[in-house]
Amino acid sequence: MRNFSSLYRKEYINDLRSSSFDLLIIGGGITGAGIALDAASRGLRVALLEKSDFASGTSSRSTKLIHGGLRYLKQLEFGLVKEVGSERAVVHNLAPHLVIPEKMLLPLSEKKGLGYWLTSIGLKIYDWLAGVKPEDQRRMLTRHQTLKAEPLLRTDDIKGGAIYAEYRTDDARLTIEIVKTAVNHGAIVVNYARVVEFTYAGNKIDGVEVVDELSREKFTVRATSVVSAAGPWVDDLRVINRSKSGKELHLTKGVHIVVPRAKLAVKQAIYFDVDDGRMIFAIPRGEITYIGTTDTNYSQSKEEVTTTKEDALYLINAVNITFPSANLSVDDIESSWAGLRPLIHEEGKSASELSRKDEIFESPTGLISIAGGKLTGYRKMAERVVTLVAKIYFEKKSLKQCFTEKIRLTGSFANNDEVRKYKESLRGRLGGLTDQTIRYLVENYGNQTDVILASAERKKEEQEVALLKAELEFSVEHEMVSSLSDFFVRRSGLVYFNVHRAKRWLSVAAEHLQPILQWSAQRKQEEILKLENTINAVTHFN
Ligand code: FAD
Repeated sequence: MRNFSSLYRKEYINDLRSSSFDLLIIGGGITGAGIALDAASRGLRVALLEKSDFASGTSSRSTKLIHGGLRYLKQLEFGLVKEVGSERAVVHNLAPHLVIPEKMLLPLSEKKGLGYWLTSIGLKIYDWLAGVKPEDQRRMLTRHQTLKAEPLLRTDDIKGGAIYAEYRTDDARLTIEIVKTAVNHGAIVVNYARVVEFTYAGNKIDGVEVVDELSREKFTVRATSVVSAAGPWVDDLRVINRSKSGKELHLTKGVHIVVPRAKLAVKQAIYFDVDDGRMIFAIPRGEITYIGTTDTNYSQSKEEVTTTKEDALYLINAVNITFPSANLSVDDIESSWAGLRPLIHEEGKSASELSRKDEIFESPTGLISIAGGKLTGYRKMAERVVTLVAKIYFEKKSLKQCFTEKIRLTGSFANNDEVRKYKESLRGRLGGLTDQTIRYLVENYGNQTDVILASAERKKEEQEVALLKAELEFSVEHEMVSSLSDFFVRRSGLVYFNVHRAKRWLSVAAEHLQPILQWSAQRKQEEILKLENTINAVTHFN
């Protein structure tokens, strides 16, 4: 079987041109990836096209939690909380190295939030709806216990707290592993392939026109059914399909900022109230803590969503009120990301009040679009879409029922214990690895770390360079990386979580990728400049 490598892109595109598919998916975010895996594993012939890189839309810019969405309980969205809450443990089992249990501290303030008893009952309902195991169920804390759990909290305002269970992940890594698992089940998947038009037989869609963004060539792909999982771009495709009527998207922007862990050394993830009635996360991760999010209406370019100074100051102000000794300023921000929530518009509702539920739109020409939803609910969303596609187009095919809850993702392990043992087993590799390096490798690549380490061990350079080069080769050969940004932003997460390392290794990486990806000297320079611009955009705010 061919690797999922950018070096085989031409062959993949030839497959797209020369075959006809049961289902073609537009969009390589978590939603499209989930649909591709569900459909391919049920026996459909699947193609997926992504106009940029996988997860380059919203799916690399979330809070990176696999969570039930406690605040949706406040909005009485019981169905949503039940579905995504229950999905947390399922998604954890599919990739325990990548979807990691994280206890969340919820401080209860004198003046803000729901109060002690309502929170206690709310969390009980949350655990019950989501079927949380008894040992992981919420624990209420006294004022003393809360301040002990998080000494950085402002003391005059705390009346107690709660600890409850969530999971953290890396959204872009989760997306790429789902894509790779779909490819292992036979899906043909290509990035940098933009759908620009639909083709029709009579008045029904029978394929799409595509522009290869790397070669600028155009080609056509034939398919019995077409699903748009284009996230914030769903309405643009409905316009191309001349079917945008009725409900429409309402985009809201959410920003996260990253500060050194030492500047906000919270002991664990924390979800705290803000003066305007919203809630914000502060999540420690390795050497950094990230803080988010904002929620504001958005109508500017979807291609360049950036953090403004106003966004940054809102988050900094919220932190400084809750953790006065942090004394953060904009200069402390090391990196940031900004993403768009593709929500469904509801008249008269503010950004934060809009439902996070997903919806499916069917056009008279056969285009099925899905929008809204959560990272956490991707599997159930995929199941609904594929079941609908099967009902409309493939009733005679007697497809299998959805069984993605049993399909472990690439690089995965059976359970937490296996992850722990695997991490232990790596300690002596490559002349001795630090805990931090092991954590980085295993949380990003799972047991695929073996491939990276074996390649690094064959190299003569010092450990850090050998590892970087091996990682780059792996990402080209197994994760369809074709640019510096693909690697530094989405495969490794370095631009967000360790921007200093990204800056330090940018030129070495460009030098190493040049012969592998056959870049001209000019292309190499363009790649460097593009990544420098990206780093500039996430580290400077206007
Ligand atoms: P996207 O990831 O945007 O994917 C759509 C893809 O379609 C894009 O990659 C785009 O390039 C591609 N595309 C568009 N047009 C075309 C075309 N013409 N041809 C080919 N490809 C095309 N959810 C959680 O569960 N937990 C969280 O902690 C969480 N936090 C969030 C925080 C923020 C700030 C935001 C904004 C969202 C958060 N969410 C969270 C929600 C979650 O991130 C989104 O629901 C999810 O990522 C949406 O994925 P998607 O695949 O639908 O969209």
